[in-house]
Amino acid sequence: MGRTLIPFRALWRDAGTLQFGTDPDHAIVLTGLPAGTADVLALLDGAHSDEAVRAAGAEAGLSADEVDSLLAALERCSAVTDRDPANDLPGNLPVSARRQLRGELATLTQRHGAWAGVVLSRRIDRRVVLTGDHRFVVPLATVLAASGVRRLWIPASGRVRIGETMPSGLRAIDERQPRGTAIAEVVLAAAPDADLRPFPNSLVPDLTVVAGPVGAPAPDLPTPARKARARLELGVRDGLAVVGPLTVPGRTACPTCVELARTDRDPDWPALAAQLGGAPTDPCSVANTLAAVALAGAQILEHLDGGRPAVRSASLELAASGAIVRRRQWDPHPACPCTSPSAA
Ligand SMILES: [Zn+2]
Repeated sequence: MGRTLIPFRALWRDAGTLQFGTDPDHAIVLTGLPAGTADVLALLDGAHSDEAVRAAGAEAGLSADEVDSLLAALERCSAVTDRDPANDLPGNLPVSARRQLRGELATLTQRHGAWAGVVLSRRIDRRVVLTGDHRFVVPLATVLAASGVRRLWIPASGRVRIGETMPSGLRAIDERQPRGTAIAEVVLAAAPDADLRPFPNSLVPDLTVVAGPVGAPAPDLPTPARKARARLELGVRDGLAVVGPLTVPGRTACPTCVELARTDRDPDWPALAAQLGGAPTDPCSVANTLAAVALAGAQILEHLDGGRPAVRSASLELAASGAIVRRRQWDPHPACPCTSPSAA
């Protein structure tokens, strides 16, 4: 087992100056590098031992000390890991999935270094249930599945309507087909190894996504979905796509806190909200729906990977132009019986 370069783009400023990455805030520059450095770097792929790297360096005219100095410099700036993150992926992960997830692993390696494989393995084990408005739900399921979340449940019944079709989601050719079958075909086309079987009542999902009109009364969710460790709202209001809030019982505001805050601002809100429950979802353009799906997907992955996404206790609103027009913070409400934020 050898060392692996973190997958940032390597660019030569001159024969002895190497830059990793191009972002002004994060790029790393190594100076005074001897000739032959490129031959050594080419072997930092996890498959070559330090001895093999030194031998290649010797052939390129570098002494063992020069190779060791180069490796030490790369380590100091976290440009190299001493273990291949792919080795931490589950042993039973099919080869096809392992190949498909290379891009995700490379992206995670830029952030998490040698721990990227551990982070991706955790993601692969997460369980997510997606409910509600299928125009959001199916493309979001394909994003999550193709990003490594293999255990997804999308409760569905009835037949596909043409109005719910969407790029990356249900297709126009699926019109009038059984919705459950069509969803499975679309998601499995994006991630053939995904497991879409219904969750048993005993399973506690890591996340439930609830898509629908913003502010509508809580839908009647299936039992596992109600027990999820976290919940993300996703919907449309007056043409704005709204992503969030993501709520974690006992750690953030809960859905009841959100409703109480809305009622504080407008005492008539409960009467208005009751009418939203049976109403069709507001229209939302294809582009804005996909923008919201991509944003929601990234936020969900950040949460599942153990980070703190921007929609935790907050919602982001996207205009039809694609611009983020507003961020709303939702704090625990003093009148709500849920756990106070001090428990976080
Ligand atoms: Zn609450």
